[in-house]
Amino acid sequence: MALVVQKFGGTSVGDADRIRAVADHIARTRRSGCDVVVVVSAMGRTTDDLIRLADEVSSVQPPREYDMLVSSGERVSTALLCMALAELGVAASSFTGSQAGIVTDTDHMKAKIVDIRAGRITEALEAGKVPVVAGFQGVSTERDVTTLGRGASDLTAVALAAVLGAEVCEIYTDVTGVFSSDPRIVPDAHKLLRVSFEEMLEIAAAGGRVLQLRSGEFARNHHVPLHVRSSFTWEPGTWIVEEDDSMEQAVVTAVVHDVSQAKITVARVPDKPGIAARLFRALADRSVNVDDIVQNASVDGTTDISFTVPRTDLATAVEGVSGHLADLGATGVTSDVAIAKVSVIGAGMKSHPGVTATMFETLAEEGINIDLISTSTIRISCIVREEDVERAVRALHRAFDLA
Ligand code: ADP
Ligand code: ASP
Ligand code: MG
Repeated sequence: MALVVQKFGGTSVGDADRIRAVADHIARTRRSGCDVVVVVSAMGRTTDDLIRLADEVSSVQPPREYDMLVSSGERVSTALLCMALAELGVAASSFTGSQAGIVTDTDHMKAKIVDIRAGRITEALEAGKVPVVAGFQGVSTERDVTTLGRGASDLTAVALAAVLGAEVCEIYTDVTGVFSSDPRIVPDAHKLLRVSFEEMLEIAAAGGRVLQLRSGEFARNHHVPLHVRSSFTWEPGTWIVEEDDSMEQAVVTAVVHDVSQAKITVARVPDKPGIAARLFRALADRSVNVDDIVQNASVDGTTDISFTVPRTDLATAVEGVSGHLADLGATGVTSDVAIAKVSVIGAGMKSHPGVTATMFETLAEEGINIDLISTSTIRISCIVREEDVERAVRALHRAFDLA
């Protein structure tokens, strides 16, 4: 029997009615003759609420306890969904990440999956049940509960789909697919019927949170077909597919923005070999993910180095750099959270010059100043002021005729 993994995000299971609607859909899928493994997120904004609660309780949050806390939201959804399925006569069993055999390393809050021992899931399937798995979490090799990073229920779903050999991993969310821009900001954005993994990964990395980046990478590496679609309309959504020469490559496919980053500037570091290595080693040792990096031209043998990091890593990063200032020979470190990144992405960019010029001209016409620039073969990103970013997205979406 064909196996489908269905993942439902927070809004999709946001209240009792939504949970019943999701249960109906799972029952329909079962009736159509498929085996189903379900992965759920925490209801609505539960994870944000739990994080806020922790902040109210204490400024000291041991990572083990943080994971114990925030993983609880997903557990609630699994049990409630199984109850809704029971009322429909569909046999189902809930599983925490640990029970589902998601084994991770010990890096709390952003743990990596090291093994999947899905024995209990296959047993439940063989018994004719629908396994309902709590997303976003696992158990470490030290037997503690871990979480896999924000938005990582997508990763749980893709990882299970890979190990169980599912025909497709369906990511159900509150929009009808992957769009040419966030439809909440650009109302005339259009839905993409198919996107290559190459473009999807750039969209995810640039902040288009409709699919979590690591889940996209995992799906590409393990050849898991992905279908991003709506749990409100249930209509067909966007297929994420392997690159294929017959696909028409749009010059620009999407305009994406990200307001989750902050900028750090290390002032007046000596312009000599080994300094950048030392700086970024200090950050890597603290598991800080550095994104864009710019080193200015040196004056009098010293230069400023600026880079962006996730806002959630800002305090750790600043503390890490501050501890090395003397060692680096730098005079100080400053940070700025009121920044945002706007990116244009398109596989056709490789063979079409001029995208960068159009992007800069468009931002200039809007009077938007560019702080940092970075590129890949199919992406151009600019760091701008946060208050300008939505205007930048709309202007670029217009300039590249994506409506
Ligand atoms: P879920 O809780 O279902 O995982 P997310 O909030 O993580 O949902 O992702 C869905 C949201 O992603 C949408 O509500 C939309 O606002 C946002 N989004 C950002 N960029 C895009 C895009 N290019 N296409 C579709 N949605 C996008
Ligand atoms: N509930 C988790 C979060 O909000 C995981 C997820 O939704 O994918 O990040
Ligand atoms: Mg998500």
